[in-house]
Amino acid sequence: MNVEMCVECGACEKACPGLLVARNEQTLPRAFIVQHKEDIIRYQSTSGGAFTAIAEEIIRRDGVVFGAVMTEELTVKHILVSDIDGLAKFRNSKYVQSEIGNCYKQAKSLLNEGRWVCFSGTPCQINGLYKFLGKDYDNMIAVDIVCKSVPSPLVFAKYVEWKQLSEGKLSDIVFRDKKRGFLYCTMAHYKTHEARKEAKDVYRRGSESDEWLRLFLSGKISRRSCMSCPYQTTQRVGDITLGDIWETNNLEFDDNKGSTLIHVWTEKGIAFLDSIKNNVKIKQFPEGNQRGVERTNTITLRINREELFDEVHKLPVKAFFEKYAPYSMKVRAKQWGRYLIWRLHLHNVIRHIKHIVIHK
Ligand SMILES: Cc1cc2nc3c(=O)[nH]c(=O)nc-3n(C[C@H](O)[C@H](O)[C@H](O)COP(=O)(O)OP(=O)(O)OC[C@H]3O[C@@H](n4cnc5c(N)ncnc54)[C@H](O)[C@@H]3O)c2cc1C
Repeated sequence: MNVEMCVECGACEKACPGLLVARNEQTLPRAFIVQHKEDIIRYQSTSGGAFTAIAEEIIRRDGVVFGAVMTEELTVKHILVSDIDGLAKFRNSKYVQSEIGNCYKQAKSLLNEGRWVCFSGTPCQINGLYKFLGKDYDNMIAVDIVCKSVPSPLVFAKYVEWKQLSEGKLSDIVFRDKKRGFLYCTMAHYKTHEARKEAKDVYRRGSESDEWLRLFLSGKISRRSCMSCPYQTTQRVGDITLGDIWETNNLEFDDNKGSTLIHVWTEKGIAFLDSIKNNVKIKQFPEGNQRGVERTNTITLRINREELFDEVHKLPVKAFFEKYAPYSMKVRAKQWGRYLIWRLHLHNVIRHIKHIVIHK
């Protein structure tokens, strides 16, 4: 921001998602476990593919959907999609801050034309949208995701540069790939989009060993504003909130292919969810359930963040990642341990035992 050019009109304060949480009328949350009926869609999605079911209904209403995609250049940005096939790009969480571009502007003009709009994003992005629009619209469904934090696009560009040194040119990176199932989802790198369809990866590691997932989960590379995120509360901003649910304690749902935990906050959201019920498998929790959305701030700064962001410019990429996420013997041991648990199908054994104990 160029302070010298500021005319003190206050527009930035009105639109700043960090300053004030704007929210429309909320009812008591209603919580559901949701799975898309098509297995392939669940496979490609982070959890149960609920987002695709919501987006498909919007397209059926001749509407448009906004969400985050991984571009050919391996950057993450928000785009608009208006056809069912295009929705595939939105599937799976991209653990990098997404660039909004002019999506708020596009959404406003489509909403004013009376088109249905589904806007998805992190809660701060959804709050920014409300601030930009200045009001809620009957023809809009705002979907916010439960968000631990968003990591830096600059550090991600360095990760891509480093991995491409040994793997060659990549065209797709999947942060929560389900080739080893939902319970052991892994970071996977692909040379082509066809290779992704055929699950022919050139790299695969879980959150115990992949450098990006480790740095993301530790919070070391998250945005500074994520450290004091005002959205990690039970008061969500969208009509609908989506998150992961690892164990539903219901064998019918716990099939290791993933389920989405949905919270619906508005009457509009409830009416909308009703319209997708035929395309999903769904189970409701007792009313008022807020399990899973009450994320408290899990990001604490355990290192000198300024030094890390200084060194990302100065150090060669290999040295940077070796310093901040070393692939040590301990890490390798954990990697082998998780791999063995997966190979021996111990996840399923453990789940079945738990289920028997709970329902005894
Ligand atoms: C950075 C990040 C952190 C998350 N942290 C948690 C967490 O701590 N706990 C938890 O329960 N769930 C978390 N989630 C949400 C969760 O992983 C799933 O997105 C959610 O369960 C929906 O899954 P789905 O299968 O229904 O849909 P999917 O098809 O997987 O949905 C993808 C949706 O996420 C949006 N999206 C993907 N990447 C981004 C991004 N970078 N910025 C904005 N929107 C994005 C897409 O636009 C789309 O709406 C996080 C997601 C992201 C992107």
